Amino acid sequence: MTISPATPMTGLSELTVESVTRVFGSASGRQETIALREASFTARPGEFLSIIGPSGCGKSTLFNIIAGLDTPTSGSVAINGSSIVGQQGHVGYLLQKDLLLPWRSVLNNVVIGMEIAGVSKAKARQIAIPLLEAYGLGEFMNHRPDQLSGGMRQRAALLRTVLFNRDVILLDEPFGKLDAQTRATMQEWLLDLWDDFQKTVVFVTHDIDEAIYLSDRVIVMSPRPGRIIADLPVEIERPRKPGVVTSREFITMKAEILALLHPANHSEVTQ
Ligand code: ADP
Ligand code: MG
Repeated sequence: MTISPATPMTGLSELTVESVTRVFGSASGRQETIALREASFTARPGEFLSIIGPSGCGKSTLFNIIAGLDTPTSGSVAINGSSIVGQQGHVGYLLQKDLLLPWRSVLNNVVIGMEIAGVSKAKARQIAIPLLEAYGLGEFMNHRPDQLSGGMRQRAALLRTVLFNRDVILLDEPFGKLDAQTRATMQEWLLDLWDDFQKTVVFVTHDIDEAIYLSDRVIVMSPRPGRIIADLPVEIERPRKPGVVTSREFITMKAEILALLHPANHSEVTQ
């Protein structure tokens, strides 16, 4: 499926995170929490990068910093070499909670990014309606979010994020609450979307299979204080079929990530 993006793209972009540390609570005299320590990575143009790590290791904190909703205690974040620290609007961001506005229809939710960017309502609808139809939400565009299934809500939230029309998008555990069947369908759907829109994607998950299946690279984080302990290329050719999860390369990589995440092995890398 080939669909033109909402407006001409600025081109594929590279996201660089360098030595980002976030300490909470230091200013107020409360006990300090080092949520993230010296995180560095680069998401190359058009790359699909996953970040995997236990709950509380600073994944959402990292995303909030990249999105400019929070500032790092130290370190830098840049797109194509220009700093975006403390600045909002440079990336599309799907938060852990979908945050669809309950009083707006699906269509009116999906066009929010364009409305904020100053696109007229008529034009925004003209762009969004064919996409809703192409991605299986055509019949539901006038429904409110609470009338949709979990999978459909996430599709609407993802389309809204893509239609914000930034080259880099951050997806924070978008399928975490979905059942296995819906999750598998959504993964295929996301790969189609990625193919059609050619974004640089950074995807947070705690599901190892999902991280490997979707990604060009997987970054593994340690428990709190969150640090990046591995940055692994996924050398499995695309397009990938769901059955690839039983292949030797897949299982080898899964074992490697499990060993990194497993506390017994983990003590070796933290010392
Ligand atoms: P993850 O998304 O990996 O589960 P978070 O980034 O949400 O982890 O949280 C990392 C750590 O930082 C946790 O210990 C959390 O309690 C702490 N934390 C997150 N946000 C704040 C905040 N605003 N104030 C204080 N502590 C925070
Ligand atoms: Mg989180």
